Amino acid sequence: MSRVAFLGLGAIGAPMARHLARKYDLAVWNRTASRAVAFASTHHGTTHARTHHGTTHERTTADADAMRDVVITCLPTSREVESLLDGANGLIAGLQKGAILVDCTSGDPATSRRIAARLADAGVGFIDAPVSGGVSGAEKGELTVMCGGSAKHLETVRPVLESFGKKIVHCGDVGAGDAIKAVNNALLAVHIWATAEGLAALAKSGVDPKIALDVINASSGRSNTSMNLFPERVMSRAFPRTFRLALLDKDVGIAANVAREQKIASPLLQLTAELFRLAHGELGEEADHVEAVRLVEKWAGAEIR
Ligand code: NDP
Repeated sequence: MSRVAFLGLGAIGAPMARHLARKYDLAVWNRTASRAVAFASTHHGTTHARTHHGTTHERTTADADAMRDVVITCLPTSREVESLLDGANGLIAGLQKGAILVDCTSGDPATSRRIAARLADAGVGFIDAPVSGGVSGAEKGELTVMCGGSAKHLETVRPVLESFGKKIVHCGDVGAGDAIKAVNNALLAVHIWATAEGLAALAKSGVDPKIALDVINASSGRSNTSMNLFPERVMSRAFPRTFRLALLDKDVGIAANVAREQKIASPLLQLTAELFRLAHGELGEEADHVEAVRLVEKWAGAEIR
């Protein structure tokens, strides 16, 4: 199992693919082809020509998939993955029988199940395998990979996933990885919003947010968000762009939907989805997820610094 294709060289996809390029004969594809050309030219020095243990840039998804055992997608949403299936240059035309599509998109469970069913008809396996750990985790090759699908398929692709993943978990049937990822990110969103509201209230009442954060981080209200994201990104006003707010909005929406489908009372999830939808609308497509804090600050009339 050595021929791998990677589709989607975005903020997290590119560092994941970099690890694969070191170990596998890798073909890369990206919607904006120049990114794939640049990637291929800096990995093993090849661009258009396929070479043994080289990285190639492929013109179409079907070129990228041809003769590949494992094809990995990492796109914004399941919708984009599904849209790559059809047509003469699509995934279904390009994938060979017995291949496995591993979708590292933070996807939605229902679309993943639909994609899996269509691929199964073509003799191709499917695993939803969203990742957690951020761009820095991807760069270090230490992502958590949450997988849904057949255990047998997962064991086949596990060595490939180990190139960029440290903790690789079989979560259940197709869609289970997506569902867990969405709930994880909904928790992240709750922490960001709640921490921002609390610190904005303290700042407005005259308390130094630095002192407040120092106390909270030694107390029971602390979280990864308060311990890392706020000091590194909010207090510093750096707000680096590593994970788009648009994508977190999508994830919280998926989590809220999972709860709605189960008909359970989920007022906090639904409210968080609404807040992040508003923040995304206000701050735009390119804002980072932590920049949601800016909307809380605007409403409060106080900066957290
Ligand atoms: P980016 O927005 O940085 O990149 C998106 C990628 O998808 C690009 O390669 C883009 O191509 C491609 N793309 C966009 N639209 C289409 C389309 N219609 N057809 C084909 N390709 C398309 O996203 P990320 O890399 O940050 O995220 C990718 C996935 O990983 C998302 O599901 C996200 O939620 C998840 N994720 C991201 C993390 C992060 O820290 N960034 C952490 C964990 C999960 P082009 O270059 O042409 O724009």
